[in-house]
Amino acid sequence: MATRRITIAIDGHSSAGKSTMAKALAKELNYVYIDTGAMYRAATLYAIKERLILNSQVDMESIGENLDRMFLSFKFNPATERPDMHLDGVNVEKEIRTLEVAKNVSFIAKIPEVRKKLVALQKRMAEGSGVVMDGRDIGTVVLPDAELKFFMTADPEVRAWRRLKEIKDKERDTTFDEVLENVLHRDKLDSERAVAPLKQAHDAVIIDNSNLSMEEQFEFMLKIALKRMEI
Ligand code: C5P
Repeated sequence: MATRRITIAIDGHSSAGKSTMAKALAKELNYVYIDTGAMYRAATLYAIKERLILNSQVDMESIGENLDRMFLSFKFNPATERPDMHLDGVNVEKEIRTLEVAKNVSFIAKIPEVRKKLVALQKRMAEGSGVVMDGRDIGTVVLPDAELKFFMTADPEVRAWRRLKEIKDKERDTTFDEVLENVLHRDKLDSERAVAPLKQAHDAVIIDNSNLSMEEQFEFMLKIALKRMEI
């Protein structure tokens, strides 16, 4: 059976396992993986470091001109087999996963200038086929012509437990309630923002993985992808 390389867009709620699946699919298909959430997180870290965000208030006057000086890039990490986020040439993969960044990222992600810059970069990164990109607006805004779109979700409690397990080693004081509140709050802000809100593309395959194992989910998604790749 002849196959073609396609573009796969994965959107969904916070901590629904998008990046785990995107990374696994990209590895299996030998595609490039692009984590757009990491880019919004890095932009948030940049704003925190530049003191453009204080008590969840963004300095809107300075953010535009400051963005021109922010340089984001991915570099493949052979140990984790995924691209690490770099901000101004420095690996910030760990720093962008903290709760402090998670608490502020939705405020940065709703700013039109930020989205304009990052969406342009994402479109450029996805040029050519053989790409898996995950985020919130990939199937609707960044890659509306993607050959395959998924929308992933799960019960908020399930998602909060998964995220807590992920950050517990690094941030021991973080509680389940804190993570659950952050997950729900981000879903709300991401879904209600004026620019590129989180929503299902009309042609997306919807997956609720609350009761699915990682393996079941992966097999399901891979099967659909292989089918879509047939010529
Ligand atoms: O996917 P992740 O949870 O790392 O994304 C962090 C945040 O970045 C999201 O809560 C959302 O506010 C923002 N984001 C976005 N659009 C994307 C990807 C992420 O607004 N395409």
